[in-house]
Amino acid sequence: MTAEVIDGKAFAATVREKVAGHVARLKEEHGITPGLAVVLVGEDPASQVYVRSKGKQTVETGMNSYEHKLDADTGEAELLALIDQLNNDPAVHGILVQLPLPGHLNEDLVINAIAPEKDVDGFHISNVGLLATGQKAMVPCTPLGCLMMLRDHHGNLSGMNAVVIGRSNIVGKPMAQLLLRDSCTVTIAHSRTRDIEEVCRRADIVVAAVGRPEMVTGDWIKPGATVIDVGINRIDAPEKGEGKTRLVGDCHFDSCAAVAGAITPVPGGVGPMTIACLLANTVTACCRAHGLAEPEGLTA
Ligand code: NAP
Repeated sequence: MTAEVIDGKAFAATVREKVAGHVARLKEEHGITPGLAVVLVGEDPASQVYVRSKGKQTVETGMNSYEHKLDADTGEAELLALIDQLNNDPAVHGILVQLPLPGHLNEDLVINAIAPEKDVDGFHISNVGLLATGQKAMVPCTPLGCLMMLRDHHGNLSGMNAVVIGRSNIVGKPMAQLLLRDSCTVTIAHSRTRDIEEVCRRADIVVAAVGRPEMVTGDWIKPGATVIDVGINRIDAPEKGEGKTRLVGDCHFDSCAAVAGAITPVPGGVGPMTIACLLANTVTACCRAHGLAEPEGLTA
């Protein structure tokens, strides 16, 4: 079997188009422009790239982008004061604090200071609890993007065996909650799981969110299964020249694609969906804030 490659880049473009359509309608019919505030503390190069990209795509879909760049030595009180100001700003519908924060700042404290209804990353403890209890929540962007691609590919996920490899708060756990909500039978595998290959071989859906380059190989995959590769790992690529690197996922693409029914590539799979879902969450937050109907197809 040769797997169908799920094109996350193209899918993300359709999500952004839908977002832009909803934004245009919000402006035209209600005079409301959704706004996303992104807070970056320090100068981590990867975070700077992400924040720039988020700001650019926010503006491209017609929303207002508010960027707040703070020095690496910013104190907790100053950061909390900014979050309080954004919580109370009616022009701001979504707030994202770029992680990781510098070591002297308590991430849990900072994230939980964001008003839950503006927490477009879905990391606030209230949103985690709402998702776990099947209530209306803000859903973390990466798992939401994975869910959208799975629903688009399969239609109905009910009754499917899903294995999520990884139990982080930002990907693995919320992914498992979302799959459970769509009536999958869900197993969460992690570094202590025994016979992990065998556990994976039973799965109709494998979501890998580990951070280990090409760990999942074709012999872990049931023929015809769908493989969603969340991992983003940079490895040496001497074949491209001295000192060159390339991105790979947590799944060994060629061997998995030879067995799977469908697979997301890295790059061009889950990655582009993450920012698209951040934009979708911002529109959803804006609609909820104004008591308007939520955009269809953009929420869990
Ligand atoms: P994380 O917090 O480091 O969690 C990794 C998980 O993998 C942990 O639960 C860990 O298990 C598990 N694990 C580690 N080694 C394992 C092994 N040998 N076998 C089975 N499980 C193992 O990472 P994360 O933040 O969830 O991110 C995971 C990957 O996704 C990374 O490559 C990251 O860059 C990528 N990512 C991509 C996006 C995107 O937009 N595409 C977004 C977020 C993250 P224990 O809990 O037992 O230690």
